[in-house]
Amino acid sequence: MILLKSISIWKDNYEKTNYESLDSDIDVDILIIGGGITGVSCLFHLKDSNLKVALVEQNEIGVSVTGNSTGKLNYLQNDLIDKIRSFYDDEVASMYLKSQVETINSICSTIKDKNIDCDLERVNSFLYTNDLSEVDKIKNLESFLLKNNINVKRANHKLVESKYMIMVNDTYIFNPLKFINGLLKDNKYPIYENTSIVKINKHKDYYICHTLRNKIRAKYVIIASHYPYFLKPFLFPFKVSLEKSYLSASIYKTKPFSLISYSNPFISIRTYKDYLIYLSNSHSINKSVSCKDNFNELIKKVNDIGVTPEYLWSNCDILTSDGLPLIGVLKDNILIGTGYNTWGLTNGFLAGKILSDIIMKKDNLYISIFSLKRKNRNNLLTYTSNIYKNVDGFIKGYIKSSSNYLCPHMKCKLTYNEVENTFDCSCHGSRFDKDGKCICGPANKDIDMK
Ligand SMILES: Cc1cc2nc3c(=O)[nH]c(=O)nc-3n(C[C@H](O)[C@H](O)[C@H](O)COP(=O)(O)OP(=O)(O)OC[C@H]3O[C@@H](n4cnc5c(N)ncnc54)[C@H](O)[C@@H]3O)c2cc1C
Repeated sequence: MILLKSISIWKDNYEKTNYESLDSDIDVDILIIGGGITGVSCLFHLKDSNLKVALVEQNEIGVSVTGNSTGKLNYLQNDLIDKIRSFYDDEVASMYLKSQVETINSICSTIKDKNIDCDLERVNSFLYTNDLSEVDKIKNLESFLLKNNINVKRANHKLVESKYMIMVNDTYIFNPLKFINGLLKDNKYPIYENTSIVKINKHKDYYICHTLRNKIRAKYVIIASHYPYFLKPFLFPFKVSLEKSYLSASIYKTKPFSLISYSNPFISIRTYKDYLIYLSNSHSINKSVSCKDNFNELIKKVNDIGVTPEYLWSNCDILTSDGLPLIGVLKDNILIGTGYNTWGLTNGFLAGKILSDIIMKKDNLYISIFSLKRKNRNNLLTYTSNIYKNVDGFIKGYIKSSSNYLCPHMKCKLTYNEVENTFDCSCHGSRFDKDGKCICGPANKDIDMK
């Protein structure tokens, strides 16, 4: 009998990092807030600076969004390239594509140079649709890829029925937690776990970042916390939305590969050793509060392939309105990397490079296109739609929620997720374990269970 585990396959059997929490006031040049792929990549890319750098992590390194991902390094990213093409033009989409290809190569050479054991495998990646109305879109994307010198071919795959499928052969899969742990191998900077930043104040030309007990004085602050806990500057809840997905891993022996659908219903599949990881049931975070129903539908899809899940978990990522990530200066000497549209393993590593280049005053080709100041027609329609999603999530939480607990972030009602035994916020994605400990932001405090 298979024992079902409600945890990501990466977090099971994972050797935990064991950094002390901060217990005194400190003074640094750069404070990195958040120890997911973004924060750890910033630390990595700053390795040759002569600056004093520190990283604080509210929980443990990597266990939040990064440790719940599917672990693909891919530039065939569902319909994202087409979203960017239609929002901007082919030139911007080509730049984005180039950034992803270059970052994948850079991650692979880092893994090789540092001899990081993270189960990296080069695989064929398939992108398909089973919807006739999308066939022309994939054909068009195929031509665009060919024009950008990507070696793309027509293909088929036995696991899904498709009306049109394409394939590339220079993409990768890996274990994301082992990767970020490996990036920290020769790290010389201090890292503090179980240390949450709750307030940032500006004083002349430096910042005071407050934890619940201590203060950190910093010249630069990098927000690598995924969804920031603060509203201003940038008003994130009005400009971005959140998407939740459900994942499983089941024993399934086959040749390594990676596969995704072009658009809704989103499906993402990959192999990991003798397992098949299967993602489905993606929805806007406010759309559905029943995690159990979504998990049951996922289990049914996986059973249809003839396998039974051994691991089940869910995860949430931030979507931007124009499809490009948000990487750059937030205000003055506060920088941020977020909004990766579910492709943050490449974009988080890239953010580490861009943000460190901005601070070190080095040129970087991608600074302007990912800048938060770009003219992205973040118009009234986007604002209205995101405000609606926020209010809808807030109201649905109140009507349908199976718990009485409120999220300390913006007082949305939390829903009990009976599969993972967590309390989840259907407004901004915060999550708490059964004892009320915050395991995923933007909330930066635990809930009082009394
Ligand atoms: C279902 C799913 C599958 C995905 N699969 C892929 C994939 O295959 N390939 C890919 O490229 N991308 C994938 N992604 C996207 C990718 O996982 C994310 O974009 C990326 O991991 C985000 O990294 P991050 O460092 O920004 O966030 P996180 O990994 O969440 O790290 C942020 C850290 O900041 C900490 N923090 C938050 N607030 C504070 C605070 N106040 N003080 C201190 N610390 C704080 C958190 O505890 C957390 O550890 C997937 C996303 C989802 C939802």
